[in-house]
Amino acid sequence: MIRPFPTHDHPLQPTGNDRLVFDVLRAANGPVSAYDILDRLKPDRPRIAPTTVYRALEHLIRAGRVRRIESLNAYLPATDTPDRAVVFAICDDCGRVQERDAGAEVGRITKALAKDGFRPTHPVVEVHGRCGDCDAGTDNGAGAKA
Ligand SMILES: [Zn+2]
Repeated sequence: MIRPFPTHDHPLQPTGNDRLVFDVLRAANGPVSAYDILDRLKPDRPRIAPTTVYRALEHLIRAGRVRRIESLNAYLPATDTPDRAVVFAICDDCGRVQERDAGAEVGRITKALAKDGFRPTHPVVEVHGRCGDCDAGTDNGAGAKA
């Protein structure tokens, strides 16, 4: 579940642009690129610049409000616990992105890397494929629906 935009509960005070960008992400049905965010803001704010959107995204990511989908170069609002490690399951057919807790798995990987002297700072786990709904809608699967 996506939390509402913070007001005073976070040390990083959101700016007005942060809120605008966050509202676009929250209204979207999936990940949105920075340029799509810009396009959606242009009708009301014709002079808004790409750097403004990128700065707001950076701010929101640091505040734990937004996650970046690296392989899509797009953004999603963070769910309840933005600090936990997650795996993103990305459907290449419909574009839906599902977020699943991957704390234990990512913990194992980062510990193994740390043993080798590597200090992980930004673990990213993204898996591309086909979601259950899209898979059920094809003739490829044995249990496919008509
Ligand atoms: Zn799908």
